[in-house]
Amino acid sequence: MVWYYTVLYMLRQIKHTMQDLEKPTAIIVGAGPGGLASAMLLAYSGVDVTVIEKAEKVGGRTRLVHKDGYTYDRGPTFFHYPEVIEEIFRAVGRDAHKELGLIPLEDPSYRLVFGAGGHINATSNLDLMTERIRELSGDKNARGFEKYVKENRTKLNRSKACLQTPWTGPSNLLSKRALRVAKILKPWSSVAGDLRKNFDDERIRLAMSFQTKYLGMSPFHAPSLFTILAFLEYEHGIFHAKGGLGSITEKIAGIAEEFGAKIRLNTPVKQLIYQGKEVVGVELEGETIYADKVVVNADFAHAMTTLVPDEKRKKWSNKKLEKKGYSCSTYMLYLGMDRTYDDLPHHQIYASKNYEKNLEEITNHKLTWEDPSLYVQNACVTDPELAPEGCSTLYVLVPVPNQHESIVWDDIKDEYRELIIDQMAKLGFDDVRDHIVSETIVTPDDWGSSDIYRGAVFNLAHNLGQMLWRRPQNRFEEAKNLYIVGGGTHPGSGLPTIFESARISSKLVLADLGLDPDWNGVSNWFEDMKKPKVKNSSKVSMKPSVAGEGHVA
Ligand SMILES: Cc1cc2nc3c(=O)[nH]c(=O)nc-3n(C[C@H](O)[C@H](O)[C@H](O)COP(=O)(O)OP(=O)(O)OC[C@H]3O[C@@H](n4cnc5c(N)ncnc54)[C@H](O)[C@@H]3O)c2cc1C
Repeated sequence: MVWYYTVLYMLRQIKHTMQDLEKPTAIIVGAGPGGLASAMLLAYSGVDVTVIEKAEKVGGRTRLVHKDGYTYDRGPTFFHYPEVIEEIFRAVGRDAHKELGLIPLEDPSYRLVFGAGGHINATSNLDLMTERIRELSGDKNARGFEKYVKENRTKLNRSKACLQTPWTGPSNLLSKRALRVAKILKPWSSVAGDLRKNFDDERIRLAMSFQTKYLGMSPFHAPSLFTILAFLEYEHGIFHAKGGLGSITEKIAGIAEEFGAKIRLNTPVKQLIYQGKEVVGVELEGETIYADKVVVNADFAHAMTTLVPDEKRKKWSNKKLEKKGYSCSTYMLYLGMDRTYDDLPHHQIYASKNYEKNLEEITNHKLTWEDPSLYVQNACVTDPELAPEGCSTLYVLVPVPNQHESIVWDDIKDEYRELIIDQMAKLGFDDVRDHIVSETIVTPDDWGSSDIYRGAVFNLAHNLGQMLWRRPQNRFEEAKNLYIVGGGTHPGSGLPTIFESARISSKLVLADLGLDPDWNGVSNWFEDMKKPKVKNSSKVSMKPSVAGEGHVA
């Protein structure tokens, strides 16, 4: 009998090894939030995942920067709408709040200071917010806010499925999800235009619209759908993550590795490898690796123009990419201070006295020298461990034009610094020069040299001509086996939408591999799309090596 069980055990072991060998493979180019969330979902769902990252750390624009004992977020500081990441974590059997240390910033969520006079402390307590609007701007605007909240609650509910589902072409406009939202969308109206009906105080319109800057766009150009951005802040709150938002990507990377994903740092992808129209792998320095699926998370326009030969692209050729609209860029100061600012809020925004002119200048590639808008994060009021004891970090972001030949940043960045430090006094930071002990300046040219097309940090603009199926599609339309995640694909830039892109693209990858994973009760398919028939399993792709050195990932 013993021999019988031994043989059975050995057969089982062989079966497991074979299953492991037969795992389908995916390569992810870039370890930004989109790439890492995809790695976590795919590895959990039974895919052998390799993430290839050029930098020495994970996180991309969402990573921590350590300097002189201070820790800064390189990019994102506002964490919105945690619902998407909560669901993604639930799908892989984890709890996002526990793992990511999310801290709600309830009152104030942020302070908005108007160059035109006055300020408002924004809060996710809707009654309190209504009262604050009444105090600043009177009854009509307070009632307008209540109406705005109701309208946008409906708008979000109706548009959710459109944001959570991939778009493949204009015929999708006849889908249930699109028809549901059509009634409330006004494609002819901008965010700024739409807000006029509820608010007659320009400052409140500004308070409900400056959030389009998260997409790198002016509210005068952003489609009216995006009035939901401010609503999301009031309805779902704003969060900080203990240790900085960059710690979120580090934690997701850790979980992906626990599920078996391999992350290779300091490894730039040199190009995607094609066989005809099919992407079969990536070329690295002296090595080629192959996989069943390739997911690109690197900045879209940069990746296309550097990793994919021009002749492989028609819709997204170099010439067409040049003509696309791109978001604004940012001028950054990361300041290590030898004091704390305990009386000032975590987030503060200063809106230029002439806000509209400031926005027009950004769009028209002119640098604003007169009273520019800016944002300052004083994270140590919430998270003192980001700086040595008694000290603090200040993160200053100034929205500026993306790279343009008329602005040579190396010539002006120091002069601009002086102007920005003067502006900081308008947010209560009036002694900054005396207390800086560590400093880093980042300009659009620096963003441009860190693999971001034109330094447009919020990616392709989000106008109607570059949204839905007109944005690079999640299952990329110009090559087989290639998928896009991150700010350059649907639904767009910003952490919640980037995580959504990871979820959409991962569902497509898994379905295309014939896998039907168990996501702990979270749906692994789309509400109103037919699910492809699931094959039993997918075979390892033993693609031939084109560069001698190659192996199967
Ligand atoms: C200053 C700033 C402030 C922002 N603030 C917010 C905010 O408050 N809230 C919010 O929600 N969003 C914010 N964003 C927007 C957005 O959330 C982040 O930019 C986000 O990090 C973009 O994620 P991604 O997945 O598109 O990839 P990225 O973060 O761009 O990562 C892409 C990765 O690909 C790698 N890569 C590139 N080329 C190669 C190659 N050839 N080979 C291998 N790897 C490569 C890069 O090194 C990088 O690690 C901000 C962005 C910036 C820049």
